[in-house]
Amino acid sequence: MISTKIPYYYQSVDFNKLVLDYEPPVEFMNGAMKWSREKIEHVQLQRLKETLEQASTIPFYQRLWKKHDFALSDVQTLADLSKIPMYTIDDIRDSIERKPPFGDYQSYHFEDGQHTPLRFYTSGGTTGAPRPTIYSAWDREVGAILSARTFYMHGIRPGDAVLNSWAYSTHNAAWIMDHGLWHWLGCTPITTSTGNVTPTEKQIEFAKIFGATSILATSDYLVHMAEVARKMGYDPKHDLQIKTLSAFGNKQPVQEAWGCPVYDSYAFHEVQYVAYECEAEDGLHIFEDAFLVEIVDFETGEVLPPGHRGNIVVTALYKTGTQQIRYNIQDISGSYEMKQCSCGSWHKKIDYFQGRSDTMVKLRGINIWPEALGKMILEDRRVNGEYFCYAERKTPEGKPARDELTIMVEAKSDSLDFGLLKHELEELLKRKNGVAVSVEIVKENELQNLTGHGVRAKLKRFEDRR
Ligand SMILES: [Zn+2]
Repeated sequence: MISTKIPYYYQSVDFNKLVLDYEPPVEFMNGAMKWSREKIEHVQLQRLKETLEQASTIPFYQRLWKKHDFALSDVQTLADLSKIPMYTIDDIRDSIERKPPFGDYQSYHFEDGQHTPLRFYTSGGTTGAPRPTIYSAWDREVGAILSARTFYMHGIRPGDAVLNSWAYSTHNAAWIMDHGLWHWLGCTPITTSTGNVTPTEKQIEFAKIFGATSILATSDYLVHMAEVARKMGYDPKHDLQIKTLSAFGNKQPVQEAWGCPVYDSYAFHEVQYVAYECEAEDGLHIFEDAFLVEIVDFETGEVLPPGHRGNIVVTALYKTGTQQIRYNIQDISGSYEMKQCSCGSWHKKIDYFQGRSDTMVKLRGINIWPEALGKMILEDRRVNGEYFCYAERKTPEGKPARDELTIMVEAKSDSLDFGLLKHELEELLKRKNGVAVSVEIVKENELQNLTGHGVRAKLKRFEDRR
């Protein structure tokens, strides 16, 4: 007999428990967002212990913990967090190699779909091979609540139509934003996806015709959209109805192009929204009811005190499917001094995303990040902000081989003196970094083929040619 038992979605999540455990936007603003440190840490410890208990049945963690002699009983307080072994994307790759194609870090597989509804996404990754993640219905809904909280904080409100210009693909990003708007915010997503699904001109038309009040996209793409709108004869500041933008990355050029508030956030594939920018516009609040976030030294992995730059290490506290416990995601940030924010929240803050540490280039002992250079060149109004970096190993005559970094930048106008601009930018970068970086000036739009500007959601900014 064929099984007739179907795991219906509406029966698969205890929604009453869900909204008490992970409050939706309005309840969050009056609830968990205002929790005291004591309350935050109490909930975190309880959730951490439950998470560890669940992860102890997953082969990946069994192996990792055994290798580092870690036992569940080692965690009695939050201060014991650093006793849990950390892992990176290399361990995930190793896990996939051991047990292709899913790795042994998942708690569910497709056949479990006969008992509970599942979703499957892969990260193309800014670098390296795709990482598959299987999400339970609970994990999706919490992720969607965290997205909705972020958008609400950014001024998106029920009744809004929101253009979602992230790639609707095997990536999670567009989907979790979509579900947040739809399930937990009373907003209607306009599912344009990226420029190669709906050409940018058409996206602008959609925003115009249907009166979209916000757009979700990377900062790079939002700047591009404003340029295209202007070419179409629209003033992005007045001819569209955009009231706020939820971006990802460098906000300043977006603000200049659109003339409305722009807010940043931090999220990634496996765990979805981790941190959001509040009205204070001074760093990103971690959703501390759902995460433990640490900043660790690039080389030693030691947890760093506030004010230092290091890798972000994330422990998700809400997941029932694939767990992430002390996942060193190798994104660069820094933690803030613990104090109450002017928005009223005690939730810890981290700095804005500073780039990936695996694109870090060490020049004469100094760490340089392509993304940081991209921000520095914006000081010069003769360039349009587009850039692409590459690293090479060169052997100067009679000297040992050394690494060199070059940044290619687009000049705003062909009539500029490229030689002078190159010289002045090299001076600027040398002054800011304390080490020489070569600059190559190119004409406007010449970097498109390298970065994927206008086509890719996340632009390519770096190539290692060593
Ligand atoms: Zn705040």
